[in-house]
Amino acid sequence: MPIAPEHLALIYTGPFDAYLYGRASRDPKKKGRSVGSQLSEGRGLCTEQGWPIKREFRDIDRSASRYAKRGREEFEEMIAGIEAGECRILVAWEASRYYRDLDVYIRLRNVCAANGVLLCYNGTVYDLSKRADRKATAQDALQAEDEAEGIRERNLRTARLNAAAGIPQGKLLWGYARRYDPDTGELAEQYVHPKQGPVVRDIFERVAAGQSEYSIVRHLRTKGERLPGQRWEQHHLKNMLNNIGYKGRRSHHGQDVGKSSWPAIVDDELFDAVQQILNDPERRVRKMWAAVHLQSGIAECGHCEMFPQLRIINSRGIPSYQCPEAFDVSMAEEKMDAYVEEAVVTYLESKAAAAAFASSDDQKRTAAARLRAQQLQSQLDEARVLAGKFSATGRPLLSVVSLAALEESLTPQIEEARRDAETFNVPPVLRGLIGQPDVNAVWQEMTIEQRRAVLRAVVNIRLMKARAPGVRRIEPGRIQLTFYGEEGFVSGGRRAEVPPQRAAEPQG
Ligand SMILES: [Zn+2]
Repeated sequence: MPIAPEHLALIYTGPFDAYLYGRASRDPKKKGRSVGSQLSEGRGLCTEQGWPIKREFRDIDRSASRYAKRGREEFEEMIAGIEAGECRILVAWEASRYYRDLDVYIRLRNVCAANGVLLCYNGTVYDLSKRADRKATAQDALQAEDEAEGIRERNLRTARLNAAAGIPQGKLLWGYARRYDPDTGELAEQYVHPKQGPVVRDIFERVAAGQSEYSIVRHLRTKGERLPGQRWEQHHLKNMLNNIGYKGRRSHHGQDVGKSSWPAIVDDELFDAVQQILNDPERRVRKMWAAVHLQSGIAECGHCEMFPQLRIINSRGIPSYQCPEAFDVSMAEEKMDAYVEEAVVTYLESKAAAAAFASSDDQKRTAAARLRAQQLQSQLDEARVLAGKFSATGRPLLSVVSLAALEESLTPQIEEARRDAETFNVPPVLRGLIGQPDVNAVWQEMTIEQRRAVLRAVVNIRLMKARAPGVRRIEPGRIQLTFYGEEGFVSGGRRAEVPPQRAAEPQG
């Protein structure tokens, strides 16, 4: 008969060298005790009864179920220790901690019986060499297995539902982590990785703020590796920036096939802003160049045909902007930067700038288009859900034929609304700058690339010849600035098709 621990010494002779065994399965509902608390309760029992603890085994995140895919190294070590005669009693807390299926139970029973080791769980000591004790533990084992089977069936049902509802398939997106069911090995959840998720969001924000991929990669490398032993490369960003998985959508063969089961890391607005920047043809030729000068490739010569963009030269030890075609205009970099920066900051703080952007009908139009796209998309999503649900009589709430017709009519409308939404022409880099009281403070915090993005968005710069040679100060009209909202302003630069002059050498 099983006996209470306190009666052990009356029946058996000691010493009762003990093995402690604690194990946890990944248990989202936290129904089982943690390994730590199992072991400490076991230690308490051993101390109380005067059983010396020989070893403790922690079997974390491994399931004893026969469906588990992971190994059970600690369990194997424990078996080996028992066979080596290292303990007299094995203490654990719950039956299911020992065995979730009969094979494991039988193995444990045989090894304990063969080596004269007692088994203690649920406050009871069993001698497995005795028939009654074998029967009692076998019943517990059966019950534990039955529970495991129940869990497995529930999980299989969930997995099937998840598949229908768009649980992630295939390769894990960087920025997310997955939780697997410990018993079935099925994917239970894909969640935002606590360390990688914020990095993903930061990358999108930096691109939206006008930083080049090159400088972002450089920044990421200073912060650490992408994965251990793997440094950040530009292609990592490329694959990341246009992946709709990050805004919580699933794609199949390059098509958006609905809402994902995992949470978004970036919202639609940020994602769309980044797409707009990536699809900007000017960026494609630009991004390989690390910007080191504020105005090279931006400010133009005001005299030459086609207004060539100025480049940096070294003029008697002084870095200067110069016309690369006729060498007819030139000005010291520091001087020209100071002038332009002050003018741009003044403009950004002005009511004129606020009015220029606020009066833009584009903004309202694109906001409306974005809303329209979202509404159409959710209509389609709802229809897809309905098509997967069934009435009491077993008929789908929406027939496959109706769904197909709806998809055919909605998809082009959604695409059109998305295209309209992309014409939004206030670059994200200007948010928080237009009409703000202390633009200068923000400006000082910005990187040179962000500043260049602002210049591109709000001002056309032309450098004119000095009226007389050797004039030191900046005469009126020497630097002509045309701001956004003023007559003659050209958005986006007119020379987008021409690669930048070799003003800045790529670094690194
Ligand atoms: Zn020129």
